[in-house]
Amino acid sequence: DFIIIAIDGGAAAGKSSTSRALSSRFNLMHVDTGSFYRATTVKLLEAGVPAEAGDALNAGLANLELGTYIDENSAYIVVNDWIPDESIRSEEVNANVSHYAAIPELRKFLFDYQREQATIAQEEGFAGLVMEGRDIGSVIFPDADLRLYLYADPAKRAARRAAEGLADSIEKRDAMDANRKTAPLSVPEGATLVDSSELTLEEVVEHVSGLVEN
Ligand code: C5P
Repeated sequence: DFIIIAIDGGAAAGKSSTSRALSSRFNLMHVDTGSFYRATTVKLLEAGVPAEAGDALNAGLANLELGTYIDENSAYIVVNDWIPDESIRSEEVNANVSHYAAIPELRKFLFDYQREQATIAQEEGFAGLVMEGRDIGSVIFPDADLRLYLYADPAKRAARRAAEGLADSIEKRDAMDANRKTAPLSVPEGATLVDSSELTLEEVVEHVSGLVEN
């Protein structure tokens, strides 16, 4: 049976590494929805659309045609034939993405596209989908087979991001994501909390794999 795993959590909580490991272990299509918000942010910044609801935003979104590109176990967003590159992880995007992500119209714009990834995963012959983000277990796939919330203490997360060498105020981003009105970052009701603070990636993957198998 096709399975859906939803992984939510704050910035740098280990969602990507964990989901990628699960995707290869269980032949699941991996989708990082943070990259959807980042790619959209790049395009709206490029078009000079401010991060607020209104006509400019609606027009900006109407100009974006979304596609999907699959490489190995991951599906990637394509926007107007642009395949997002590392520029979606720039300091400018880090500083702006949560402002755009707080706008309900923008979240609505990405809603169907995120749900469609399950259909694509099925068509591509994957055994399931593992999707990471902030509202996957609460809004996008509240009916997922497994809903996880990954937590890591702030010192651990800061160390991870420092290792990546980019300025990213993860605390500030988490605070904005948690305080917005639409789909705030929070532990989805009934989701399983996984605290990775004292665990290695391998230990997290072992633990979560046990949850997948049961
Ligand atoms: O996962 P990542 O840190 O790349 O996400 C970037 C930003 O995108 C988050 O800080 C959040 O504002 C937004 N986001 C969201 N909902 C998701 C995934 C990401 O609001 N499902």
